Parts: sequence; C-alpha cells; structure tokens
Amino acid sequence: MRFEEILKDEPAYRIKQAKQAVFKDLADNWQTVTTLPLAWREKLEKEASLKINCEIFEDKKQSAAKALIILEDGNKIETVLIRHAAGRQTVCVSSQVGCPLGCKFCATGKLGFKRNLSAQKIVNQLIVWNRFLKSQGTDKRVTNVVFMGMGEPFLNYEQVISAIQIIHDPDGFNLGARRFSISTVGITEGIEKLGKEKLQINLAISLHAPTDALRQKLIPINKKYPLHKIFRAVDNYLVKTKRRVMFEYLMIKGVNDSLKEARELVKLMRHSLYLVNLIVYNPTQNFQASTRTTVQRFKEYLKSHGVAVTERYRFGREIEAACGQLALKAN
Ligand code: SF4
Repeated sequence: MRFEEILKDEPAYRIKQAKQAVFKDLADNWQTVTTLPLAWREKLEKEASLKINCEIFEDKKQSAAKALIILEDGNKIETVLIRHAAGRQTVCVSSQVGCPLGCKFCATGKLGFKRNLSAQKIVNQLIVWNRFLKSQGTDKRVTNVVFMGMGEPFLNYEQVISAIQIIHDPDGFNLGARRFSISTVGITEGIEKLGKEKLQINLAISLHAPTDALRQKLIPINKKYPLHKIFRAVDNYLVKTKRRVMFEYLMIKGVNDSLKEARELVKLMRHSLYLVNLIVYNPTQNFQASTRTTVQRFKEYLKSHGVAVTERYRFGREIEAACGQLALKAN
C-alpha cells in the first residue's frame, strides 16, 4: 500500500498505527488519525490520500449493493457486496479494468481491456465495502472475497496474490485464506501456480460449457486452453491442495442447458472434489436466462448421476450486479 512505502523508514509501530487506522478504524482522512504526528498526517494526506471516489447502488431488499469506483485516470471499475441472510458478507472484486478475453455472454468482455489493477486498487474495493458497512451502524465486515468481478484474475496474478496477502494479514483485514476464491476461465499457468501458493485459496473454474465445441463459441480463449488442458491443471492443483474445486456453470437458455449438455457435464465431473455451481444467467442483449424448470431438471440430472451440485441464488439483478457479468451500466 502507498502509505507503507511512505512510512517504510519509520519504526514498525508507526506502520502498525497506520494499518490500524486504514483497516480497523476505516479512516477516510489521515487528519483524523491522531495517533500519528501532525507532520505525518499532512504528508500522508497529500501523498497517500484515503479518499476513494465511488458511488454505491443498493437493491431494494438490501441483499446486494454495487459500487462504481472511479480511478484517478478516469477509468471505472465495479465491485459487488452480497449480503447473505446468515450474516456472511461476500465481496466480488475486479482484478482488471475491462477484460481482454471477450467471453460472449459477458458484459465486461464487451468493454475490451484497459489495464491491470494494482494490489492497492483491489484492496480498496474491500475498504469501500467495510466503510459502507460501518456507515450503516453494523459491526459486520466483509467475510469472503471472490475474484469474479471485472477481468481475468490469472492475467494479473502477482497483483491479485499481493492483494490477498494484504487482506489476509492480521494487521490488514485478517481474513483467513479459505475465505478467498479465485475464479478463472481456465488460465492453466495460473491454476498451476495457485497450487504452489502457501495460502490455501479456493479455486473456481468458469466452465459454462461441457464440450470444447460449445465452449469455444462462448469463451474464445478456450482455443488456447481447451478442456483437457484445464482439467489436467485442475487435477495437479488437487494433488497438491486436496481442496474442492468449484465449476461455475451459467445457465443460458437454449445454449448450454439441455440434458445433452448435462450428460456431457457428468462425463467431466469424475472427481469427488469437483463441485458444480449452477448460476442463473443475468439476461443481456444476446442471451436469456434458463427457466426455473430447466435449471431444476439440469440440476436433478447431475445429482442423480452422482455429481455434487449447488445453485447460486440470483443476487442483485435489479442493480445489474451479477458477479462475472459486470458492465458499468450505472454510468
Ligand atoms: S467472463 Fe471473465 S474472463 Fe470472460 S470476458 Fe468476462 S471478465 Fe473476462
């Protein structure tokens, strides 16, 4: 974080005080951090301002909220807070401005790629939500982080891992490693690297189609990373981590939701640590969501063939806040 660079030659307790202010007290102005001497407060305010320029949109049920963050260069990114009834507060973070991969069903993909986000800009997304929760008078804070917002996290691997380390740090937000999930379309180099990380971070694969022929139509990068390569990398990850891997499957009407696809999917799900997560698609111009009946039929088919399957409830639809489908519509 920028403030740490500025304070790097100061005694360790100064950095601790600054971290306390940023991550625990959620200060948004260094002038209020009276544990620091005035001269430092002024320097930090000038060179490492805590101001984050953003606008927040909440859905009516207050079960989800979306923040549009405006970066210093004018680029915009989105992050989503999902407030589960059981108390979990999951944040979906962006790792890039736009995305170079152009998946056909994804609104972010249509924006094209602008640039990678630094670790600080990723961490700022959590700061936004913890400040938001604090402003609501609750002592709840973000409990889970999913890299499923704008961008492909494994195309910005180093910054994503640095951000996780900052958030995981006991002097940061102190979130356990298992509270993080990285979702990838299948960048195999990233999957292999993640398996070697000391932190036990969850892996999710955005599968969305059970055959290369169909997947290539939806996810152009499948040409470079076809299913057999992805599954080989996932299996290596499993050998090293013994951790469950989630396969995300957007249910898109008439595209990937028939029993034919369910049968193909069963063939791929041959490991007891594989789990399919069905997600009802957030409709866009080109694609529609599968019907409730179709999703149920698909789910039952998988279950009856021994596949572990869950279904993600559609959060935040009215504020266009579907993770992995972010589009900056709030502009
Ligand atoms: S689905 Fe993910 S990888 Fe594909 S274009 Fe959208 S943000 Fe990029």
